Formats: sequence, structure tokens, C-alpha cells
Amino acid sequence: MFVFVTSALAIEPHPDAVPSTHQPGDVDVAENVPFNVTDPATLRGIVMDETAAVLKGSWQYSTHTPPYVGIGYLHDQKSDKGEKSVTWTPDFPNAGKYEVRVSHCCNVRRSNNTPVIIRHAHGESIIRINQQEVPAHGKLFRSLGVFEFEAGKTGSVTISNEGADGKYVIADAVQFLPQRSSRVEEPPVYVRNEEDHSKWPQIVREGVDAARDYFGNYGPVQVYILGHEEDALNSDAFHKQIVERYCQCRHPDSIDDRAGCASGSGAELLRKALSGRGDAYLSFVDHTRPPLAELVFINPHEFNDPYLYTRGIHEYTHVYQRAFPVTPTWMMEGGAEFFACYLGEKRGWASLRNDMKTFMENVRRIEDPELGIQHMEEIDKVSLAIKKYHRHLAYDAGAWAIAFMIHHSRSQSIADMHKKFYPRVTKIGWEAALAEYVQMKDKQAFYHAFEMFLAQPWEQQLSLVGALND
Ligand SMILES: [Zn+2]
Repeated sequence: MFVFVTSALAIEPHPDAVPSTHQPGDVDVAENVPFNVTDPATLRGIVMDETAAVLKGSWQYSTHTPPYVGIGYLHDQKSDKGEKSVTWTPDFPNAGKYEVRVSHCCNVRRSNNTPVIIRHAHGESIIRINQQEVPAHGKLFRSLGVFEFEAGKTGSVTISNEGADGKYVIADAVQFLPQRSSRVEEPPVYVRNEEDHSKWPQIVREGVDAARDYFGNYGPVQVYILGHEEDALNSDAFHKQIVERYCQCRHPDSIDDRAGCASGSGAELLRKALSGRGDAYLSFVDHTRPPLAELVFINPHEFNDPYLYTRGIHEYTHVYQRAFPVTPTWMMEGGAEFFACYLGEKRGWASLRNDMKTFMENVRRIEDPELGIQHMEEIDKVSLAIKKYHRHLAYDAGAWAIAFMIHHSRSQSIADMHKKFYPRVTKIGWEAALAEYVQMKDKQAFYHAFEMFLAQPWEQQLSLVGALND
């Protein structure tokens, strides 16, 4: 006797669904099998498979048309149109905006008019999808847009077979991806030592404001400025205050969590400041309602003066980027660097041309000619050998890739990067949005064209920067 053990076997099929008539391996397009996600737990955000849905009417399992999530997908047997539905009711850990995606395999026998009903904090939205089209995300998930939900089991997604005459309706899985920042009314809150009369906090603020003026006010944002110049932080009372404030913002609802924070990440923050070393970073606190962006500037005097202005732009650009579905590391860091120079130049803090030249010099220091931005899509997944070039690939080559993207866009307008490109990322995902924006077949074509560009002489590369419009 043979025993086949896969993680998928641990998933029990939906008890109300009709079993599949297809044998495993009986598939129409075998090359789509690798796109199956056998274990839904490997996906980001909140994922619910058909096994967790409530079925109305008779739905049948199938594995005939990959890809799918889990053990298979459901179809409506092409019958009782308008009578059948599949509903998922997620339990949201916190209120906020989520990108909603549904997965479905596709072929010409599918309905091109499938209604998906999203119940959210502001009512109900009905979106009709064409299940004959290949979904943008891993050939599997399609985005329905970003919706706001209250915490708990307050919203739902329903796939119905109403109006889908003569064709199969597919229901497989839903995914909710938290959107970590959004447009807000209140400006960033600055937390700093009132005794500190240095010029640094003002410089940080001006940089952040330059980016806010350009992208809009996103958040909520807490900005921590902790400078230990001339022992400015040598006050126990201030130590206590800063840690309390930091932990209060992170854990507004739990005294126990605040105590843990005070001895953990709060104490760590203070240690970093007292070390005297300069650092600037952004962290996202996902468990607060709404999620919080923390911009941390430690020992800003360690950065030199015009550079510090552009660090504020860089970090705030990330706050803006995080209001959209995830984009690759090179696009995030490259975008933050590009806009730091571009907006910095407008304020007299930087020179786009000179900074881009420096970036290109850094790119040319990469010893492995095979390495490119395509190896820097997800920083958490790259090997140590590539991580070594994190800054060169993500920041330096990334900034050039952004300039190259804009140069290949229809308008060659820098402003369209946030006016047109990012909203498309929400709709169709970054890979399809990139291809559409640069008017190329796919991201591979873009990577290839960019590689060719990197081999060009200086003058030609720099002339691209001058050709961009505001
Ligand atoms: Zn960054």
C-alpha cells in the first residue's frame, strides 16, 4: 500500500459540496499546475478558501482547470442561475482598509459576467468579473479594489451565479490584504525632546512636509526625533516620557502590552539613541486601529545637513507607497530615492542629475554582471550573496529604474507616477501595471530593456534624466 502525504490532505473538503468527477492529474492545462497554492497559509493577509465559505445551492468540486487554492475549486454546474452563491465572512482583527482579491481559474467555458458582492463599512459594492481572463496575480488572484471594513465579522464577499447564463461560475478563495496607510486628515505627530534646541528636528520636518505637499497627507504617522548631540538625552525624566509615549501609541488598549513594550522595543529605541549612531527608518505597526506608521530619526546630527532633508522625503515616500498593494523592493527603495532627489532639488537640497550620477557609479560597482533589479523583488527572499548588494540594487539601480520607467511612459511625466501608476497597482497589481505603464509586453521585457540601458555610456544615461517632465 502506498500512502501519499501532502499538506493538502490535511484540508477537508467542504461537506456541502458535490465531489469532483476528475481524477488527480486529469487537468486541461498542465503547465498551470505549478501556479496552484496547495497551502493557503503561505499566502499573505487573511485568506479564506472555499472550505470556509457558506454555500447556497449545489456547488461541485473540480481540479480540472488549474490553478486553484487548496484542494480544488467549486463550480456552479452551469445550473440554477441566480439561485446559487458562495459567501465568505472574514473575522477582521482590526478595522481599516483591505485590498480584496478573489482567485479563480479561467478558460472560455467560464462566465464573463460573474457578480461579486462586497459588503463593507460603507455599504455594498457589486463588481462583475470576467472569469475567462487570466487573473493578474500569479495567474490566480484578481484584485477587486480596496474597501474599508469594521473589525470583527462585519463584512463579506459573495460570488453569485446571477446573470451568468450558459457559462460556469467559479468560486475558489478570497484574500484580504491590509492597506497599511491611507489618506488622513491629521498631520504627522512629532515626538521629540523639548529641551533639544538644535536645528535637526526642523530639517526633518521640512523634508517630511516636502513629500506630504507632493503626495498628499497619508498616515497616521508618528515621527520620533531622538538626538543625543551634546548629551541632550541625558535626562531620566525624558527617557521615561519618550518610552511611555512610544508604547502608548503602539498599545493604546493594553497596559500589559505597554509594560512589555517599555522593557522591549521601547528600551531598544532609547538604547539606539544613546549609542550616538545615526539612523533613519520607518516601521509599520499593524495591530493598532488604524495601523500606524512610525518614522524614526535617531541622532539626526550624524547625517549631513542637506542629506537629512532628503531622508525625510525618502521615509515619507514609503508611507505613501504603503497605501497601495505591495510593490517590489527595488521599486519601493528606488522610488523613495528618486523622489528624495527630485523633490529635494525643487527645494534646493539636492541635485537630481548629480545624485543620479552617484547612483550610477554605485551600480557600476556591482561585481557580478548577472545581477540586476530583478533579483531584488523581495528583500526577505534574496540570498546573502545578493543581499550584499542590497543598497546598490534596491536604492541606486532602483532609482534609475524609476527614471527609466517614467521615460518609457506615455507622458514621460514624473507626476503620473503617483497620479496614474500607483492607482493602477491597486487595480491590476504591480507587474501588470508596470508593463502597461512602460508600454512593454511584461516585466521581463522591462528588466531586459533596463539591463540594456545600464550598459549604455554615461552621457546617454544622464540625458534620460533631463528628458523627464514634471
Ligand atoms: Zn527606504
